[in-house]
Amino acid sequence: MSYLTLEKVGKIFGSSSVVSDFDLAVERGEFVSVLGPSGCGKTTVLRMVAGFERPSFGSIRIGGEDVTVQPANRRRIGMVFQAYALFPNMNVRDNVAFGLKVAGMDRRAIAGRVEEMLSLISLGHLAERYPYQLSGGQQQRVALARALAPRPKLLLLDEPLSALDAKIRVSLREDIRRIQRELAITTLFVTHDQEEALSIADRVVVMHRGRADQIASPLEIYNRPATRFVAEFVGTLNLFDAEMAQPGVLRFAGLNVETPMALTCRADEKIVVGLRPETLSLERRTEDDLSVTGTMLSTSFLGAVIRAQIDVDGRVIRLDMLNRGAGRLPPIGETVELRFSKHDLLVLSN
Ligand code: ADP
Ligand code: MG
Repeated sequence: MSYLTLEKVGKIFGSSSVVSDFDLAVERGEFVSVLGPSGCGKTTVLRMVAGFERPSFGSIRIGGEDVTVQPANRRRIGMVFQAYALFPNMNVRDNVAFGLKVAGMDRRAIAGRVEEMLSLISLGHLAERYPYQLSGGQQQRVALARALAPRPKLLLLDEPLSALDAKIRVSLREDIRRIQRELAITTLFVTHDQEEALSIADRVVVMHRGRADQIASPLEIYNRPATRFVAEFVGTLNLFDAEMAQPGVLRFAGLNVETPMALTCRADEKIVVGLRPETLSLERRTEDDLSVTGTMLSTSFLGAVIRAQIDVDGRVIRLDMLNRGAGRLPPIGETVELRFSKHDLLVLSN
């Protein structure tokens, strides 16, 4: 049985349903990211797991035990929030020791555990500092150490990196993952940042309006999005309206493409075809390449990648090429052939 399971969990605030039919099974030691736009219910899910909110429906189990109505202080959960919730009047050492004192651990054991945690986050040299004397990234490290010190059963992180600068955000997320692996602690990590979710997690839950649209590995979320929402929220996507010209033949952008995808959809559903910018090319790559004609509009230099904006029938299509591989870019206004493989088509309905 999975270590953490949410079964048909729902939450109603007043008359609005904020989370519904939420199923999730997390294995012991797994790192799962909960990804979605602001307001989709991520924090509410986390608060229900922590015991700060009681589900209106469904059940939650941790380590085989039904905790649906168990109070937060009996769940042994470590939490880290976006705002550095350190105790401002305590130094780093005392912040990290806090949960251990509450648990009644003896002083020598506390001292040992605190040293261990400080070395884990590489802040042993700052043990005497107070929170106001630390950078945002250092404060979040301390918050992490404080959450982990009492050996919680679960680690829950709610947008822990969102307030930090881009560089610190990346290095701290790598540290969080390293520490999580070292301790093999089962972790739920909430974020609205798709790159963060894909890069850090074993599996990602993409939330949309209180529901889990897809739960899968980062690669699968990106390469095989289950819904149009997932496809558009994760990564960049070019979309074309499409229709089934006849069974097995998809028509879009003036093309008729035989598709192996058995797409069954209701008459009132619209089909769209998505293409990721990096699957498009201005050069012919294989005999079977499909192509549409467009006009170069502009280019943006993104560092590793150069992104071209190309007009195809009044629609702006984005194409990415590696900086090294770019060669000469067609000038603005030039007519170009956009080439792609039918295997890269994401056929989606809504
Ligand atoms: P997220 O973390 O994804 O941004 P939240 O879980 O914080 O989303 O909130 C989801 C929705 O639930 C929002 O519309 C929010 O306003 C509403 N909500 C959250 N907490 C409460 C509450 N205690 N009372 C009423 N509405 C709430
Ligand atoms: Mg939130």
